[in-house]
Amino acid sequence: MPELPEIYNLAKQMDLELRGQTIRGVEVVQEKCLNMSVDQFTKLVVGRQIESVTSRGKWVFARLSDGAWLLLSLGMGGDALLHRDSESLPGKYQARLDLDGGRVLTVGFWWFGYLHAAMDGDLCNHKMTAKLGPTPIRDTDFTEARFLEMLRGKRGSVKGFLLNQEQVAGIGNVYVQDTLFRARLQPNRKLESLAEGERSQLFRGLMETLIQSVRLGGLAGEKDLYGCSGRFKEFLVGYREGQPCPECGTLVEKVKVGSTASYVCPSCQK
Ligand SMILES: [Zn+2]
Repeated sequence: MPELPEIYNLAKQMDLELRGQTIRGVEVVQEKCLNMSVDQFTKLVVGRQIESVTSRGKWVFARLSDGAWLLLSLGMGGDALLHRDSESLPGKYQARLDLDGGRVLTVGFWWFGYLHAAMDGDLCNHKMTAKLGPTPIRDTDFTEARFLEMLRGKRGSVKGFLLNQEQVAGIGNVYVQDTLFRARLQPNRKLESLAEGERSQLFRGLMETLIQSVRLGGLAGEKDLYGCSGRFKEFLVGYREGQPCPECGTLVEKVKVGSTASYVCPSCQK
């Protein structure tokens, strides 16, 4: 499932390629990925120009002319692909947008993907995004000071905090693994037990993990706007069950935390 680095990069590519383009037509194969009927959706977006594209957490936000927004979540195994013409379209997609000069954007997903539209004034009522917390990297004011402030007085597990999209938006079960290893924290560590230094380490671990993947174009296997796979695949402990910890050589263990799997070094992570 694409997380912050993949969506951040995708939104940047979409901004570069689609800014100024007008949506000429829409085809929706899977109506349930919309938040309105196909007719309403078509009326809302066709004829509008794409003014800019950015991301918030795992969502792409495209600002359209005259106060409309297009919101895209790729869910599990999804992709948004740009095609120069309609000749090379993939066999299967859930929706397509026809753009200027014969260019086509297709959106496909296996599971839990959404293509929503909203007007400016209704964004605050969009249930899936209205409460998103700050997005690291994208929000330049996501600083260590702000992060420490966010942690103040919070209870519960450190993993639960990182995965809660209303706290920090964009982190899922992929990037949480090495974040916690870099911070030398077990997923179940209670927030209220963290020392000042551990909180700072957590911030640095999070940023290092995300920045490394953004630089490598996201996770290997996830596609960008051009259909190219990301190059990030060297996890420190994530998905490395039974292999030696890069720091101390202890074998990495896979443990169940709530409903999700965690990969930890039992010696390094306290
Ligand atoms: Zn270790």
